[in-house]
Amino acid sequence: MIIIFLGAPGSGKGTQASVLAQNLNIPFISTGDMLRKEVGQSSVLGLKAKSFMDQGGLVPDSDVISMIKERVTQKDCVNGFVLDGFPRNSVQAKALDRAMMEINKEVNKVVYLEIPESVAIDRISGRRVCKKCRANYHIKYSQPKIADKCDACGGELYQRDDDKQDTVVKRYQVYLDQTKGLIDYYQDRLVDIKGDMPIEHIGKSIKDKLKVAVV
Ligand code: AMP
Repeated sequence: MIIIFLGAPGSGKGTQASVLAQNLNIPFISTGDMLRKEVGQSSVLGLKAKSFMDQGGLVPDSDVISMIKERVTQKDCVNGFVLDGFPRNSVQAKALDRAMMEINKEVNKVVYLEIPESVAIDRISGRRVCKKCRANYHIKYSQPKIADKCDACGGELYQRDDDKQDTVVKRYQVYLDQTKGLIDYYQDRLVDIKGDMPIEHIGKSIKDKLKVAVV
């Protein structure tokens, strides 16, 4: 099964997509995570991507499309995968359709997590991420047991540069201008979910609508 998660930054799509992928036992693929890894390694792509990411803009389509095509054609994706953060616009969506057609597959479902703008901004600007295992926390809604330490692995929590207030506003605008239109593009496969609820409720709602057994 090939599933895409769509939603504003802060809609919780990364968290939900990763849980669903675990339940389905298929890879969770986040272009944001892949790009941050490239940045961390100071690769050619990472150095190029950094300036776009720091400003809250999108990394050029051609780079992201090559990166994702390479990833989804790997062996572990043969039974499907869950995508978070890709596609971000219609050029990427069409490229994904073409790539899938070449291997006789298609995007089966698109989960759209809907949240109001104020909630999105509040969630991202308060988000903290574990440096080691990338678990997400929030300064108000999901605090770690020990300040600035990850409950799961003890890693240090930090605020992503692009989660800082100015960049968050820009990222939200980019979402409205470029990504939100994909809801229409995927209308026939869309699974609409209210994203402004407790995490467990959202997870259950997604599983119910996709008819995925809880593992
Ligand atoms: P995310 O973790 O999905 O919020 O992505 C963080 C940043 O990575 C975005 O603000 C973009 O700069 C970049 N990025 C992630 N996915 C894409 C994509 N599909 N196309 C272009 N840029 C992307």
